[in-house]
Amino acid sequence: MNAEPAPIPRDDLIVCPHCDAVYALSKPASGQRAVCQRCHTVLIMPRRKAGLQIIALSVAIVILITAATVFPFLSIAVAGARNSVSVLDAALAFSDGPMIVLSLATAALIIFVPLARVLLSLYVLVPIVRDRPPARHAARAFRLAEGLRPWSMAEIFAIGCAVALIKVSDLADVTFGPAFWMFVMLVVLLVIQDNYLCKWSVWNALNKPRKS
Ligand SMILES: [Zn+2]
Repeated sequence: MNAEPAPIPRDDLIVCPHCDAVYALSKPASGQRAVCQRCHTVLIMPRRKAGLQIIALSVAIVILITAATVFPFLSIAVAGARNSVSVLDAALAFSDGPMIVLSLATAALIIFVPLARVLLSLYVLVPIVRDRPPARHAARAFRLAEGLRPWSMAEIFAIGCAVALIKVSDLADVTFGPAFWMFVMLVVLLVIQDNYLCKWSVWNALNKPRKS
């Protein structure tokens, strides 16, 4: 007669978000990481001081998004006439008539969604890093930030602009403004921030019982 193995409590399981493989949880040491054996998705990667670095990154991203929105993105010269455009100008170019919906959607996807994600993660991370109890509705805020990820299109915008500009450069004299380079930096920082953040560590900190 075989004795059934004792069931593992649900808190001690971790599910791979990519392929749904289930593992018994064992937290790796700081600096090491737990990787899904089937699809090699990183499951847990605790890092000491990661929180503070992510907060610094997030603040830099907020500043960059704000600046990249208002500074000139590019200037175009055709037949002696020169015109500079910022991202906000471009997004709101169709702001009269029925195209206003498109304008607002564009502005949201390239500016407000990335900004909202960064602000939400700051809201969640700052109390955790300061060893305070989680902020009110922190779990909901973090879930929202994760849910918004597919709608954050700053990088797609930057790539699209680069392609379009190369095509236009035959017809007109196009120069990149400061905001273009801010956008390039922004895309790099967004990728680093996204990959550096260990979601499991954040959820784990949010699920800890509050110290009063
Ligand atoms: Zn997996």
